[in-house]
Amino acid sequence: MTTHTSSPNPDAGRNASPYLYGEEAAAVADVLQSGQYGHTEVTERFEQKVAEFLGVRDAVALTSGTAALHTALLAAGIGPGQEVIVPSMTFCATVQAVLAVGATPRFADIDPATLCVTDRLVMDSLTDKTAAVMPVPFGGRAVNLNPIRKELADRDIAIVEDAAHAFGSRNGTRRVGATGDLTCFSFGPIKNLTCGQGGIIVPRTRTEADTIRRIQMLGVVQSQAERGQTTNYQVDSFGLRYQMSGINAAIGLAQLDHFEKTETTRRALWRAYRRALVSLDDVRLVDVDVDRTVPHLCQDLIPNRDEVHARLRARGIGVGVHYPPNHLQPAFAQWRRNLPATEQAGHEVLTLPFHQHLTEADIDQVVTAFGQALTEARTTPHDGQPQQ
Ligand SMILES: *Cc1c(COP(=O)(O)O)cnc(C)c1O
Repeated sequence: MTTHTSSPNPDAGRNASPYLYGEEAAAVADVLQSGQYGHTEVTERFEQKVAEFLGVRDAVALTSGTAALHTALLAAGIGPGQEVIVPSMTFCATVQAVLAVGATPRFADIDPATLCVTDRLVMDSLTDKTAAVMPVPFGGRAVNLNPIRKELADRDIAIVEDAAHAFGSRNGTRRVGATGDLTCFSFGPIKNLTCGQGGIIVPRTRTEADTIRRIQMLGVVQSQAERGQTTNYQVDSFGLRYQMSGINAAIGLAQLDHFEKTETTRRALWRAYRRALVSLDDVRLVDVDVDRTVPHLCQDLIPNRDEVHARLRARGIGVGVHYPPNHLQPAFAQWRRNLPATEQAGHEVLTLPFHQHLTEADIDQVVTAFGQALTEARTTPHDGQPQQ
């Protein structure tokens, strides 16, 4: 076999990467100049702009997507002795948020076609202790729980959506986040929109918004304006320091101004992959309703995944795996269940480089290398390492 040197293409070498439009740095400099770095009107402006974009009344910005999930579960009153249904096929943050409130994760399987949990799989996982369900619109694909919405409401089970992958995607005609559930987004470095770090919650009611704001402000009741004018402040309840800083919000505001371009570019790149991948045997693209989705990942299911992954990495192609199933992680072993579709996807899923620095020529280069790696993996011993 021939030896491959690293790809000279750094864009194809990254699985994911933030994309800046150019105005973010000046926006951050303005905040630094102002001397006010904490939760200020810049954060509030970001909250309003995101709410407008999603078509909702209110949104509360936090330090991260994980903080958003943690706070949303607290606001929904989830705690010890209760179970929360989560797909095992998600980022570990979904599960850690459940543990953060002292509740127990109950892992659900996925539909192999979409890698998302479905209404039926949620119903199959219900127990007497179920207090919440956390659907994950994986890769940006919306999850439709409408068929079981009434049943969950009758049983007082909250829907707390982990929409970290799905900023901008639609569920039917509405944006994810505007369907009435308690919804959390992440604005981490590689998400569809980035604040550097950050997250946001779409609350269900005004009261819930107030609860979330109190939790993220250390349980302190007075507004910042009031605080300057009194000699004391009152701590009313449990809380954490989870407010988004103006520095992060400024990045998000600049990004949001260009989100239409983000949507168009991500869809075009995803379609370019779909066109190029039809030429490869043995590759099943995880399908996306691309007109309604702002794709976050481009994922395939393939045989010999580990071998192909190693061969592509050796060529400098930034492939990844989203995700090793959570129910097989050591930290979550006590909640292990038999989840056949998740386990199979865990062996077969390969995430191709997907970010806005890529060109369609880069994608052709990735897919050519992918085809070669698949052929080599089919015809050489399976030892998990490329032969040198
Ligand atoms: C990124 C991510 C999170 C966590 O968001 P952070 O902003 O990184 O804390 C949660 N769930 C999923 C599915 C994610 O991809």
